[in-house]
Amino acid sequence: MVGGGQLARMTHEAGIPLGIRFKLLSDTPTDSAAQVVGDVVIGDYRDLDTLRDFARGCDVITFDHEHVPLEHLRALEADGIPVRPGPDALQHAQDKGVMRERLTALGAPCPRHRIVRDVADVVAFAEEGGGFPVILKTVRGGYDGKGVWFVRSAEDAADPFRAGVPVLAEEKVEFVRELAANVVRSPHGQAVAYPVVESRQVDGVCDTVIAPAPDLSAELAGSAQELALRIAHELGVVGHLAVELFETPDGRILVNELAMRPHNSGHWTQDGAVTSQFANHVRAVLDLPLGDPRPRAKWTVMANVLGGDYPDMYSAYLHCMARDPQLKIHMYGKDVKPGRKVGHVNTYGDDLDDVLERASHAAGYLRGTITE
Ligand code: ADP
Repeated sequence: MVGGGQLARMTHEAGIPLGIRFKLLSDTPTDSAAQVVGDVVIGDYRDLDTLRDFARGCDVITFDHEHVPLEHLRALEADGIPVRPGPDALQHAQDKGVMRERLTALGAPCPRHRIVRDVADVVAFAEEGGGFPVILKTVRGGYDGKGVWFVRSAEDAADPFRAGVPVLAEEKVEFVRELAANVVRSPHGQAVAYPVVESRQVDGVCDTVIAPAPDLSAELAGSAQELALRIAHELGVVGHLAVELFETPDGRILVNELAMRPHNSGHWTQDGAVTSQFANHVRAVLDLPLGDPRPRAKWTVMANVLGGDYPDMYSAYLHCMARDPQLKIHMYGKDVKPGRKVGHVNTYGDDLDDVLERASHAAGYLRGTITE
């Protein structure tokens, strides 16, 4: 696996029961996954020679992030190493402009959008839709809301162009909530769909995920799953695909973006589904039959744990575990810095309000924003 973050750490964990020999290319020896994987190469994934040396002897390559240059992935394929997901699929997760163009061609519902070259272009785009605000996004390199601008006027529109990366303009969608339809597809073309989840963001960062999304009609849930399966099939995705969606007040769904790797909106599956997204990602990448994606509990809630002012979260375990025996804590081994995602908790049960309260209490207590 290329990339040493928490997604690699948890994918490695899912491969252990299968006896999979897992090799990691990590930026530093202290990255989240590098702390726990036995076979670690430290190097820069942007360097082709490093990637080639790393890939030698691997049966298949997969990723914890989407940033490996496409030409490098094509070079590995030419060397005879299976790359999953492959570059033809991955380009849609690397570049929001490519993603929008392809999804529109497939007839997938998207917000109104256009690549813009300068502020005048942005103003024209806004006027066609009845004026500001509009959303501007750098087509590459954004994450957790970085690289996304809510633009209220022409004066605000200059910033995104400074990075020198193409900029995508989108209508500002008045969504009622954000959903994610997560699917896993194998090279054989077998695919499974997890229940559609609701994802709540705070300051552009995923805060809570509720599985399944409360009060979502069976019809809309089914069409979101079908859409995600169709995108996985049409784009030739192998492994886990997260389709981030907006639900509109008139009961439609629009695609926000695609992620082709295990995803934060699927962390609940570790404790809440028969087969986790990580286990199914491993199976898909190895072209093994996929596992049952169905939920184990009526409700599962995942809450991200962000860093607070106290570097030591371990001392909070006693209170959290004693308060909620169903709680599952997943920490990533990262240094605690304010606002940084350092772990998550999952908990489950039959009463959604109770499950939500337990998850958010634990996440807040670990962070130090709740003290009793
Ligand atoms: P990132 O790649 O950083 O995750 P996203 O494209 O997912 O960026 O955008 C981050 C957040 O910004 C979304 O979760 C959503 O809350 C908001 N957002 C993005 N695009 C739109 C849009 N067209 N309309 C309204 N809100 C949006």
